Amino acid sequence: MRIVVPAGGIGGARFLRGLKAVLEAGADPAGEEPAITVIGNTGDDITLFGLRICPDLDTVMYTLGGGINEEQGWGRADESFTLKEELAAYGMQPTWFGLGDRDAATHIVRAQMMAAGYPLSAVTEALCDRWRPGVRLLPMTDDRVETHVVVDDGDGGRRAIHFQEWWIRHRAALPAREIIGVGADRSSPAPGVLEAIAEADVVLLPPSNPVVSIGSVLGVPGIREALERSTVVGVSPIIGDAPVRGMADACLKAIGVETGAQAVAEHYGPRLLDGWLVDKADEGAAVEGVEVRSMPLYMSDPESTAAIARAALDLAMELKGRTR
Ligand code: GDP
Ligand code: CA
Repeated sequence: MRIVVPAGGIGGARFLRGLKAVLEAGADPAGEEPAITVIGNTGDDITLFGLRICPDLDTVMYTLGGGINEEQGWGRADESFTLKEELAAYGMQPTWFGLGDRDAATHIVRAQMMAAGYPLSAVTEALCDRWRPGVRLLPMTDDRVETHVVVDDGDGGRRAIHFQEWWIRHRAALPAREIIGVGADRSSPAPGVLEAIAEADVVLLPPSNPVVSIGSVLGVPGIREALERSTVVGVSPIIGDAPVRGMADACLKAIGVETGAQAVAEHYGPRLLDGWLVDKADEGAAVEGVEVRSMPLYMSDPESTAAIARAALDLAMELKGRTR
């Protein structure tokens, strides 16, 4: 069984942990070696202090590799912040980014390899040699794509700031007038991405941010079209009228999509989605051309997370079996 999962950070990583547990428990009737290929969002990537930081790739790698700060959901366990304090003492900007000492080692390796000419996909593979996440982790693209957010500058004009500045420094509280994937239109999928989609039995969309995580992956020319040819089942990151964690509502508002499980499925559309899992609270959600099912969608512990992954996989296999 070959499964492709486009993913952001926390929501993606937690879902993947559940999916791995399901496959390890022997859900594959064909008895083949199960293979998960993750297409990681790189729109959140940022260069700071000469380091290339890829928050979503690292969240997936650390979560599946056993290095994540569990309570926080991102960053390394047993982290310290001496480097950050020392940089601040020199007056180095920005000071709002939570750069941990252990985490910084990852970014130093990445920056060094990239300076030597390795593409991000090769660097990610090298980093995964240490973490052994048990999935094939591919960046969506080797090209530089960065999400920027257009906000009011306070003088009647507008300016674009990096997504991380908007998200972390401003806690997404500045109204986003527009969200732009800078470089996306000129990017191409990283090596192996389109092949993995073409060979996949099913594609599962974890409950990742529909705009700045899944939306960024879909923004790489060629990826959406390839996914539209696959059987795709998604899990809603929205329960009731709010995201389960984080500020995805601020992102949805920026693109004119209501914060709701049904609205997100309508935004993805029936060309992309074959099936959609919503929480019990959203039982009545319906989208023409999409098979909607409801179940508890809180990934609160390993069991509930695995149950969600299992339901997504089962629905995908069921829909794949139907003539379309
Ligand atoms: P990020 O890159 O770290 O922001 O992570 P993702 O984009 O992968 O996931 C963020 C999304 O995960 C948010 O919109 C949350 O609403 C969603 N999310 C987090 N925890 C849960 C959960 O337990 N259940 C569901 N359904 N969604 C969740
Ligand atoms: Ca992210």
